[in-house]
Amino acid sequence: MTKVLTLLLFLAVMNLTSCGIPLPLQKDLVVRDLNAVRQFSTSNQAFASYVQDFELKGRIAMNDGSFSVGDIPINFGDTENDSFQGVCFEYPDGTKEIIVRKQWWDAVGEAYRESLLFHELGHCRLGRDHLDDVRQSSNDTHKISMMNSIIITPQKYNSYKEEYQRELYTYNTDELFQSLGIVVN
Ligand SMILES: [Zn+2]
Repeated sequence: MTKVLTLLLFLAVMNLTSCGIPLPLQKDLVVRDLNAVRQFSTSNQAFASYVQDFELKGRIAMNDGSFSVGDIPINFGDTENDSFQGVCFEYPDGTKEIIVRKQWWDAVGEAYRESLLFHELGHCRLGRDHLDDVRQSSNDTHKISMMNSIIITPQKYNSYKEEYQRELYTYNTDELFQSLGIVVN
């Protein structure tokens, strides 16, 4: 009984804290039902430079010169949930695609765009799930991964981009913790 109450309280608090922007990307890794088919076969050119950058950073971070995004089209469309600015869809035939809300994309700057796309590629290409852990430094609370279900804010992303990207590709938080001033016990 206590567990149920704790969960309800937790959900109530989550609701309150998720009212602001950015909205949480809960379950933006969506496995489609049996009859669903992919909407697109190629990417919108608006995303080409981000994909190139994701591949370049990945090749270096994972020491794999052949790393590429491959057949994961990225396009503007309906994310099917008001909370999702982007979503990684996985289809029963094994194909995947990323859909981005154009209204949001047009309203935000470079840091938010890259932060979102790298997050969605983290799901679709790197096979990562959400990692919502936070850690304290002396004066702030920090998300420890770009795979947090709430996108990293531009201020933090611009300041710690390399460190967050290293964690994204390798799960290694050493550089991030060091830069953020998080003491590891
Ligand atoms: Zn996500």
